[in-house]
Amino acid sequence: CIERSVIRWGGERGGENVRHACIFLSSITPRLPKAGETIHGTNFFIGFGGKGSNMCIQASRLGVKTSIVCKVGSLGGGAKWLLSIKKSYIAVRRENPVRGGVPGCLSIVLPSKTAESFFVVFFLFFFLKSIESFRALARYIERGEKIDNQRELTGRLDTMTYKQSKTVKTVFNPAPALPDLDPEFYQYSDVFCCNESEAEILTGIPVVSPVDAGKVGSLLLDRGCKSVIITLGVEGSVVMSVEEPNPKHIPTRKITAVDTTGAGDSFIGALAFYMAKCPDLRAEEMVRRANHIASVSVQLHGTQPSYAFRKDLPQEL
Ligand code: ATP
Repeated sequence: CIERSVIRWGGERGGENVRHACIFLSSITPRLPKAGETIHGTNFFIGFGGKGSNMCIQASRLGVKTSIVCKVGSLGGGAKWLLSIKKSYIAVRRENPVRGGVPGCLSIVLPSKTAESFFVVFFLFFFLKSIESFRALARYIERGEKIDNQRELTGRLDTMTYKQSKTVKTVFNPAPALPDLDPEFYQYSDVFCCNESEAEILTGIPVVSPVDAGKVGSLLLDRGCKSVIITLGVEGSVVMSVEEPNPKHIPTRKITAVDTTGAGDSFIGALAFYMAKCPDLRAEEMVRRANHIASVSVQLHGTQPSYAFRKDLPQEL
């Protein structure tokens, strides 16, 4: 039912302009339904995303000034999304709300025994193409702010190209991953950060261990990334760079996970925070800390509601 309603939203508005705002419809179920089967959920909640705003929320909660540049549709919860993001002290460069546009939707099914979720993502629009949008991004970059450059972000390549002439660092998260990613994305990434499944889609190499992640990382460095981080869920992360090409496995804490949804976004938000606030930290230390912060997020249900605030974290982070 949930998925059908999501699809209907899009069907009415196909071709309209919507961006980056995303509503999560999460169902907790005893197990995954089989094809064609209807099962009872044990809980249901609605939250806000998508990945870009998750990253911004995490970075903002750690105490760095964060901005998001996007288009928001006027229908289907777009206004509530804006409110939620502003409440998190994130500056919203707001273009005119797109009349008739609805936010993207993400339907999540979370079998309660596994803590791993399954997603159905529905986005109408991935690109904000207007020159005004690009200028807005450029203004933020000129002020020396960091940009989490997510695949869906508009004018993404333009932004990354632009930043090459400036002293701004980019973190690129290729989600959802496509095997034929434009090669320039690698070359313009200061940090290319992906998870195991994205790594496999991009390179064809299955990633089930830190050793596999190292192999993928080497390939991504060869494609032009300056540094690569591959997140491995419960196994933590692997980091490597042009300067230090030997893969380093940074394990994470052993905790009891209840919902891993959005852990990768929490990780990238935290990483961006450290890149902004503590640029002299070693990459391994940034990753160790980001691992820790992401591990907090998997101990609660939901994405943004599970993200840590600075005040709740150990002093040494
Ligand atoms: P999502 O797509 O849901 O945002 P992801 O698949 O991109 O997540 P993961 O690799 O699963 O990201 O997790 C990101 C980081 O979160 C890991 O590198 C690790 O630091 C932390 N993490 C994830 N799962 C666990 C877990 N079960 N226990 C401890 N830490 C975890």
